[in-house]
Order: sequence, then C-alpha cells, then structure tokens
Amino acid sequence: MKNLLDYTLEELVLWMKENNESSFRAKQIISWIYKGIKDFKDMRNIPKSLISKLEESFEISFPEIEEVYKSNIDGTEKFLLKFSDGNLIESVLMRYKHGNSICISTQVGCRMGCKFCASTIDGRVRNLTAGEILSEILVVQDYIGERISNVVLMGSGEPLDNYDNVMKFLELVCAEYGLNIGQRHITLSTCGIVPKIYELADKNLNITLAISLHAFSDEKRKEIMPIANKYTIEEILEACRYFINKTNRRVTFEYALVRGVNDTKEDAKALGKLLKGLLCHVNLIPVNEIKESLFKRSSKESIQDFSNVLKKLGIEVTVRREMGSDINAACGQLRRSYINTQKIGGE
Ligand code: SF4
Repeated sequence: MKNLLDYTLEELVLWMKENNESSFRAKQIISWIYKGIKDFKDMRNIPKSLISKLEESFEISFPEIEEVYKSNIDGTEKFLLKFSDGNLIESVLMRYKHGNSICISTQVGCRMGCKFCASTIDGRVRNLTAGEILSEILVVQDYIGERISNVVLMGSGEPLDNYDNVMKFLELVCAEYGLNIGQRHITLSTCGIVPKIYELADKNLNITLAISLHAFSDEKRKEIMPIANKYTIEEILEACRYFINKTNRRVTFEYALVRGVNDTKEDAKALGKLLKGLLCHVNLIPVNEIKESLFKRSSKESIQDFSNVLKKLGIEVTVRREMGSDINAACGQLRRSYINTQKIGGE
C-alpha cells in the first residue's frame, strides 16, 4: 500500500481527479497529515465516501519512537525510530539559540564504507522514501511540541546515493503546504558522488552543499573513504566550482580530525593550499570514537593548531561544537549499539 506521506500536493490532486473527487480535497488531506493525523477517520472535513477510498489505496505510515536519549551535557536528543518493516534509523535533535535543528537519515545503513562511520558496518539495508525521510521531522516535531527550522541531511546514509527520494523530500519539506522550511535552512552532506553533485547544481537550489572531505590528498582519502577510489579530490572540487557558479552558494567542507592520520599542522597547510580561492568554509569535526574502529580523537591542542593554520591561509573555519557526546550521537552509533544489545538479549 502507498504511504500518503510520499505524495506531493500535485500528485494527490492528480489522484483526486483520477478518482472523480474534487481537487480541493487534496489540500485538506495533506494539511491533516502535517498536523500529525494518522487515521483517515480523524480527518473531520473529509466525506465518508472519500475516506473509504483513501483507506483502500493508502496508508499513513509514521515510524514509531523506539527510544529517546537525552544528553545531560547540552540537551541534544537522539531518537531511534522504527519503521513498519522493523528497520531502525536515527535522527538527532539539536537545540540552538536560532532554533531547533534536526540531523536526519536518508538510508537504513550505508554502502559507502567510510572507515570512521558506524552506519556502514553492515552495508546499506535499503533506501528511505521521501515520505519516510520527511516523517523523521514530523515525528520529532510532534514529540517536542515545537517547530523544527533547520534540517541537516547528515545522519545514516549517503543522500546522493538515494538521489530521487532525497530530491522529492526536499520538495516536500520546503513546500508551503508542508513544513515550509526555507532552502537556506537545509544542508545536504555527501561523501562526494561527483555526477550527482552536477545534477544537484543544475537544480539551482538554495541549499548548502557539504562535502565530507576528511583528507587533502587522494592517497590519504583512499585510506579512510573508499569513494576516493572512484572520484579524485580534484574531480570533487571541479564539481563544487560548478555548484558555486550555478547557485552562488558557499560550499562547506567537513574534515573529521583523526589523531595521527590527518591532524598535523602540515596536513592543515596542505588542506589550505588545496581550497585556496574557493568560496568555501571548513568545518572541523573532532571524530567520535566508535568501538568498532581504531580511530582516535585528536587532542584539543592539535585541533586548535589545525584551525589556526587554516585561518592564517585565509580559509574560513569553524570547529564543530560537540553535541551529545554522552549519548552516542555520531552517525549510526546508536542504531548499532541498540541492535547489538537486542542480539545479546536474544542469545
Ligand atoms: S559517513 Fe556518511 S557516506 Fe560515509 S559511510 Fe557514514 S553515512 Fe555513509
């Protein structure tokens, strides 16, 4: 059965026409959904005959909140969400002065194989649909009773490996009849699937593109990110230049600092040289240590030194504030530790 959350207003209008119903009903139905109504019978202004037709064709499928972990340090909340097929994903709510921000997942698992990431250890299980990605926001918004105004596609999954669903999600999340979140409040993070960056640029959206770079040379990058065997850094940067030309938007480069791997002053100089002249910003991320990985977090001192070197080279840089470090807030950690606990419990 089709999930009504996957439908745009235009698609639902079309369905109404095909089923000899008035088009204006589509808007009424969609507005119920965005109010969190899960049962067609609760849509009070919809005639019973139409409700029966809807019930025959659609379901309204929201994930269930399986667990919520709240950080005692900064109030970050991590949600473990369970879809009707039993698959689990994570969404993280961060509260800032400028509003609530959510980091959402786009796939169950991931097949990109980044060595520092817990989401990829069991590969990609499946893509999330546009409606499922959207439902992460709706469920969390409903739970906290507050609006979410910023969205980051940086949870489990590679958004550009689920391109069509993610593009439809962007349409749904920005729609005036939906959550009406401005494109400028959305960041899409990719490990660098070059052809899809060009496709995205051609859409001319006002979203922020973030590239998980994490290394300044192809050799170093190959050590931690298998995608580097497919696309070189120069190819990624060329695609970024195209994105910048098309959208006039600054690109963010994510750089996870791993002790002894990519965190020396020389590394910073090489990174600065690589990015010089590009309309960009570097976001340094002190890597979260995961049980399954040998990677260790850089010391505070080397993070500071790294940042200073970049600044001296004229590169804008921020060190990502650590959020929810006491609740396994890094990508894929919670789902994994939860699944492991369940396995242990069942043995
Ligand atoms: S960092 Fe992102 S792209 Fe890489 S394995 Fe994890 S979820 Fe996938």
